[in-house]
Amino acid sequence: MKVLLANPRGFCAGVERAIEIVERALGLHGAPIYVRHEVVHNKFVVDNLKAKGAIFVEKIDEVPTGKVVIFSAHGVSQTVRQQAGELGAIIYDATCPLVTKIHKEVARKQKQSHKVILIGHKGHPEVEGTLGQSAQGTSIELIETIADVDKLNLDNKQLSYTTQTTLSINDTRQIVNALKDKFPGIKSPQKDDICYATQNRQNAVKILMQDSDVLLVLGSNNSSNSNRLREIAEKMQKKSYLIDGANEIHLDWLTGVNTIGVTAGASAPEILVQEVINYLRDCGANEVIEIGGVKENIHFPIPEQLRQNRR
Ligand code: SF4
Repeated sequence: MKVLLANPRGFCAGVERAIEIVERALGLHGAPIYVRHEVVHNKFVVDNLKAKGAIFVEKIDEVPTGKVVIFSAHGVSQTVRQQAGELGAIIYDATCPLVTKIHKEVARKQKQSHKVILIGHKGHPEVEGTLGQSAQGTSIELIETIADVDKLNLDNKQLSYTTQTTLSINDTRQIVNALKDKFPGIKSPQKDDICYATQNRQNAVKILMQDSDVLLVLGSNNSSNSNRLREIAEKMQKKSYLIDGANEIHLDWLTGVNTIGVTAGASAPEILVQEVINYLRDCGANEVIEIGGVKENIHFPIPEQLRQNRR
């Protein structure tokens, strides 16, 4: 049995930054510190930070007055930001800069009296955060599918669209085409809002699965970008499994398999990939090959106040 490793895979610059912010805040302020929502959607990462003293909460009113609060990489609404401020919290913002860019673009478009359409998954925290950037008296229209485009009934002359950062490139392209057909004047984002990490990982899986029979994706159930990787293999008529670690692999998944593809979502650490490789070697894999891929050199700086501290 051969193992093919996707390249690139695993941590993106936004996830690395978010984890570093939590670790450094723990170093500077000591435990506990409060993190609004899972800082990134990965069980291993979250459990690790919990062990170091991070407390994850869904609502700001779960945070005692005057404590340290960190916003997750997915970003928060203006209301959450305001609530944290009213608590007298020391706030660190781990929102990925690529999500912040979308927030700013939404605000800019609304200032120009544009109606903004957001393509994204209802209920995902990034989507909640972006919807919550609306200026007073304005709203953003959320759509998830082409069927939603058909239902749109908008009389605004000025229309713009934006997207969640971790969507399927192919599905989104179809929704955007439907939007452009229905509203020919609609304005696109200045730069693609599906982020570089999502695009690179999806492209790598498409190449990987040309030569693999089965795909294992390291990633948690609630990780949007990891689920999209799993779906790519399924659309190529290949079996595909989302796992939090090697201990979740079922031996019958490997029966009759010659080549197994392995990748990791943007919030899954490399240590989990290495554990999977070791497990597959124990199961008889005698060759591990990393495919060629795009080199990523993106790094996002952490907030100034945290640059001297690490736990
Ligand atoms: S997946 Fe993309 S948007 Fe999300 S944290 Fe990573 S770089 Fe930022």
